[in-house]
Amino acid sequence: MPLSNQIAVVTGGARGIGRAICLSLADQGATVIAADLNAEGLAETIKEAESRQLTGQIVARSLNVTDESAVEGFVELVVEEFGKIDILVNNAGITRDGLMMNMDDEQWDAVINVNLRSVFLMTRAISRHMVRARYGRIINLASVAGMMGNAGQANYAASKAGVIGFTKTVAKELGRRNITANAVAPGFIDTDMTRVLPDKVKEDVKQIIACRKMGTPEDIAAAVTYLASPSAGYVTGHVLVVDGGLNM
Ligand code: NAP
Repeated sequence: MPLSNQIAVVTGGARGIGRAICLSLADQGATVIAADLNAEGLAETIKEAESRQLTGQIVARSLNVTDESAVEGFVELVVEEFGKIDILVNNAGITRDGLMMNMDDEQWDAVINVNLRSVFLMTRAISRHMVRARYGRIINLASVAGMMGNAGQANYAASKAGVIGFTKTVAKELGRRNITANAVAPGFIDTDMTRVLPDKVKEDVKQIIACRKMGTPEDIAAAVTYLASPSAGYVTGHVLVVDGGLNM
C-alpha cells in the first residue's frame, strides 16, 4: 500500500472531514493518530475504522491544538511511541460567524486561535522531526472562503487566507529538506459545520456551485490522501481547491 509504514497525525479527527481523512489514510496503509478534544467522536472514528477492513490503523489521542505546551508534549509522545511523523494534516477548525461590524473580540480570537495559530504550533513542533528525517508531507485545511471572502465570516476567511500564506511559506522554507506543504481548500461540504446553516442558505449556495451539490468529507479526504502520498512528492506550495466549481 502507498502509505505502509507511514505515521500520520490528523487534527480534528473526531468527526466530519477529519474522520474521513483518518479513514482514507489508514485505508492506504498508514498508522494514523487522530488528535481531537472530542473523546466521544474519537471513539466513533475508531469504531468506524474497526468495522472496515483497513490495511493501516487509527489510534486516538486527546489534544487541544491551541494549547502550546499540550501540542509540544503530544508531539514528543507520538515520536517516542511511533518513532517518527511522516504526515501532518492540520484539519481542526471552527466557525463563529457574524457580520464584521458586530463581531466581538472573542469570536475573532477563537477562530484565529483554532484555525491559524494551531496550524503554526503543530507545524513548528512536527517539522523539527521531519527535517531530521528528511521527509514530510504537511497538508493544511484552508477554505474557498479564504480565497473569495464570505459575508459573515471575516474571522474565518482571514484565518483560512492566513493558512494559505503560511503553507506557501513553509513550502519555500522546507522544500530542500524533502518536505512538501500544501493546502486543500474545500468548498461547501456536508458536515456538522454546514448542517447548522438554514435550508434556504444551502439551496442558494448550491445554485452557484457548478456541480449543483454539496461535497462529501470523502471528496476532501481523497485530495488530502493524494497530497500525503509519495506520488505527490513534486507538488508543494499548492492550494488544491475541491469545491465542485464554486470558486472559478
Ligand atoms: P467539524 O465537523 O466541525 O469538525 C471539526 C473537528 O475539529 C471537531 O471534531 C472538533 O472537535 C475539532 N476541533 C475543534 N477545535 C479543536 C481544538 N481546539 N483542538 C482539537 N480539535 C478541535 O468541521 P469539518 O466540516 O469537518 O471541517 C474540517 C476542516 O475543514 C476545518 O478546518 C474547516 O474549516 C475546513 N472546511 C470545512 C468546510 C465545510 O464545508 N465543512 C469548508 C471549507 C473548509 P469538537 O467536536 O470538540 O468541536
